[in-house]
Amino acid sequence: MKKIFILISLFVFSLIQADITVDYNSSMAPEIITTTEIDSIEYFNVFELNKAFKAAISDDLLDQRLNINIYGEQLIFLIDSSYLQYRSDYYNMTHEIIQQDGKYYLPARFLTVILPRIFDNRMSWKAGKLVATAPMDNSIKRIVLDPGHGGKDPGAIGYSRKHLEKEVVLELALKLKKKLEQQLDVIVLLSRDKDEFVSLQQRTKMANENNADLFISIHCNAHRNSKVNGIEVYYLSTAKTDEARAVEAMENQVVYEYEGGKEAVKKYDNLAFILADMAQNEHLEESYDLGANLQSSLVHNTEAYDRGVKQANFYVLRGAFMPSVLIECGFLSNKEEEKKLITNSYQAKLIDSIFKGIKDFKMKYDQMQ
Ligand SMILES: [Zn+2]
Repeated sequence: MKKIFILISLFVFSLIQADITVDYNSSMAPEIITTTEIDSIEYFNVFELNKAFKAAISDDLLDQRLNINIYGEQLIFLIDSSYLQYRSDYYNMTHEIIQQDGKYYLPARFLTVILPRIFDNRMSWKAGKLVATAPMDNSIKRIVLDPGHGGKDPGAIGYSRKHLEKEVVLELALKLKKKLEQQLDVIVLLSRDKDEFVSLQQRTKMANENNADLFISIHCNAHRNSKVNGIEVYYLSTAKTDEARAVEAMENQVVYEYEGGKEAVKKYDNLAFILADMAQNEHLEESYDLGANLQSSLVHNTEAYDRGVKQANFYVLRGAFMPSVLIECGFLSNKEEEKKLITNSYQAKLIDSIFKGIKDFKMKYDQMQ
């Protein structure tokens, strides 16, 4: 008797826990949206929409809003309300959005009734399933982090002569990769994950071949004058100021020194004509935006001197067919900055700032898609 009771309750339970299947009218495999019961109402975690429709989701706590972008259309939800706005229309989900453990839950009715109504040309509710057009996914999913130098190329050498740029930037990149993958749902590839020499061309080639959406080169600076300090972020273009040219010359020197002298430099200069024009023009604005996000987040968080967002003609950024920037995280040639750059606490500040810069850029970028 007890057994039967358990079986019946399992059966009833499975009826209540009615997950929602999304079928695509293409070769894409169906997605299952898991639902949970909250106060006897069926809800689902809003991030399921990202899985099923590549939706970009962001919350605006100041305005108490949740923004969801599906098929390039913006839906605005009011937190703790059952209403959502699409263009000039309002829709009532009957039950309000719920916030629980830092996650947002929408009533299942949004999927079964509201969404097919809004996108009546793209989806419909048929035989207990949502049948939908497969979403286009142009969101940022793959990021290449490029720790500068490595192997026979030490990069900048610290004021104390003890610390090398190639070591500091590798540590930063490894930590940043972990944070990005854990908290931003992206795949992060490293141009090098150990102390090895990788040519500048190989670095962008790897990013292109892996269809990376962002390329972020991480460096530490050096200057003849040990008083010089601060953070700057570069994006690609012909160098504009003498200062920028000096940094450019220093970072590009690797080609002359370690990749085969004048011949190698010639090869990169040719590459500049063929590829860089196309690559940089297409993504100039985005690269600048990404650079600006990173720079403001970095100086705000670290309180380092703000050297600004600059343009320079780095070989390593040439030929990358995606928004790309080069971060100079501080001057190893400056006594104080070198001391900070090797501590876990300052590195954590740098990581948090770069993470935030990427996250803000991704939110903005994904919503425009
Ligand atoms: Zn460097």
